Amino acid sequence: METATYQFSRAIYRELASEIAEDPHRNCPNANHERVLRACEAAMERLATDRHYFAHPTRTLFTDIRAYFPVGAQLRVLRVVQRYMDCADEFIRSRPRTGYDLYGNPLHCRASTRRGTPCQRMPIPETGYCPSHQHLADTEAIAA
Ligand SMILES: [Zn+2]
Repeated sequence: METATYQFSRAIYRELASEIAEDPHRNCPNANHERVLRACEAAMERLATDRHYFAHPTRTLFTDIRAYFPVGAQLRVLRVVQRYMDCADEFIRSRPRTGYDLYGNPLHCRASTRRGTPCQRMPIPETGYCPSHQHLADTEAIAA
């Protein structure tokens, strides 16, 4: 599926593609290219749909793909991942509040009601909680 975050995963891949290490004797000589691209796409999708539970996007993606690059390229890989993750994060945060994420899933408050069912109100993007559950974000900040 092509979404707005697709451009960010493609950009990371394009910047790093020439440095991906492949084993030319394998049956699929481009297997690692494919893996890097898929990992970038998965990380961007998670950033767009699950931001509040995705604590370390840059570190997570870097850990997923670093094995496909030679030792000498690691620092550059980390910097490229960091740069595009920051851009994507800012892009996602600056979107108008439509009540849906970039993949068309309706957004809901992260809290549960007293009956234990998920709160159905629209969340504030910065915290993921609706205005009446906003105090939970403050509690989280103290705990962190
Ligand atoms: Zn709520």
